[in-house]
Amino acid sequence: MPSLRASAPDSALRITVLAGALALLLTSSAHGQQHPLGEWEQLARDVFEELVEINTSHSVGGTLQASEAMAARFLAAGFAAEDVVVTEVAPGEGNVVARLRGSGSARGPILLLAHIDVVEADPADWTLPPFEFIEQDGNFYGRGVADDKDEAAIYVANLIRMKAEGFTPDRDIIVALTADEEGGAHNGVVWLLENRRELVQADYVLNEGGGGTLKDGRHISNNVQASEKKYLNFQVQATNPGGHSSVPRPDNAIYELSKALLGVGAYHHPVMLNEVTTAYFTRTADIVGGEMGAMMRRVVANPRDEQAVAFVATDPAYNSRMRTSCVATLLDGGHAPNALPQRATANVNCRILPDEDPTVVLQRLRAAVGDAEVAVEMQGQATESPPSPLTPEVLGPIERITNEMWPGVPVIPTMSTGATDGLYFRNAGIPVYGVSGLFYENPNSHGMNENIPVKSFYEGQEFLYRLVKALSGPEIS
Ligand SMILES: [Zn+2]
Repeated sequence: MPSLRASAPDSALRITVLAGALALLLTSSAHGQQHPLGEWEQLARDVFEELVEINTSHSVGGTLQASEAMAARFLAAGFAAEDVVVTEVAPGEGNVVARLRGSGSARGPILLLAHIDVVEADPADWTLPPFEFIEQDGNFYGRGVADDKDEAAIYVANLIRMKAEGFTPDRDIIVALTADEEGGAHNGVVWLLENRRELVQADYVLNEGGGGTLKDGRHISNNVQASEKKYLNFQVQATNPGGHSSVPRPDNAIYELSKALLGVGAYHHPVMLNEVTTAYFTRTADIVGGEMGAMMRRVVANPRDEQAVAFVATDPAYNSRMRTSCVATLLDGGHAPNALPQRATANVNCRILPDEDPTVVLQRLRAAVGDAEVAVEMQGQATESPPSPLTPEVLGPIERITNEMWPGVPVIPTMSTGATDGLYFRNAGIPVYGVSGLFYENPNSHGMNENIPVKSFYEGQEFLYRLVKALSGPEIS
């Protein structure tokens, strides 16, 4: 919330006046003192607490229980039963989809997507209990507070708030909270698209994958994820007739695989920028400045500029956004300590640029291996995930509200190097934007003592409230 910033009293005051009653929603000052929560902040906090304290890691299940708990809240808030649908995708695993009906204009719905499963958390690995919701020293702690129960709680609270305020959007607003994004066997988004597509059919989706960057407490950028890399494994395999290890031969499957993998490791896929990564490097250049910023501008101007590419590539995160990357991740070879190996196999995991053809990657890997006797094969198919267009309809309100809440903070389009559930919607032809206004510094998602700043949570709630209203009806002011 802007008024929380100590450094800009004038604009904070102006926005406070514009926002009217929102000024009452302050929670903590720049000095960390606690203020009473507003009604809707309190609701978001209550929902957040309830979600975090339902253990939804895969060893436990729990997403059905969490879905039912959220459904009960929607029903208690006056949503019609047909607009609150819980679907069980496997025993104990479920989704909930809730719909705030619009006025029936020609525009299709927007979908607010969050997964409610979490990665495992062994209490022995944490110094805090992972499935207790703890507010301490200006942070919320608990498994899922950064990934992705923060967004789930905000979506639930904001949809209930809009209903209570009598807001009638000009399109339906759908909230979908889903199972098994974190690698479980029963992905809720896949299930919904296959079995109940009418529940989640939308013009576009807002999802995790974006969010803001904080550095030393300062807001650096508000990131909008509009693209993801594709995921595909390749098998590299050397074979040999083998024999007794007391009479070695010059040819050896383990040696040949080793040489092949060194070739893979030394190879760099060509740099190729798309609309999203061009915007990313252009705007990031302004933020990082200095030699790195200058080199990024050179790469944007000419992706064949080898000196600039080599400089930017020294940062692995930047490198992975410029090009397809492939890396050896698993190794298996031989069958006995006293036998020449008949087989040696490696898995090479590739993260492929969204507009690159996997068969081209295969050809490059074969060339990098450089040994026709070593087989390189694709393992299955990559799920296609076309970049989502950065239309003014979506980007305009994001930029305007970002500037209202955090003046001067740039909006940066990004391509994720990993994958989210956005993949499945993009593959189904529905654009996805990872945007939240949730600014985190080091949330330690998937790690020990996962945490987010309390202030960031309420700011993200306010950002998403304003953004969803802007995307679905008259502006608030
Ligand atoms: Zn996530």
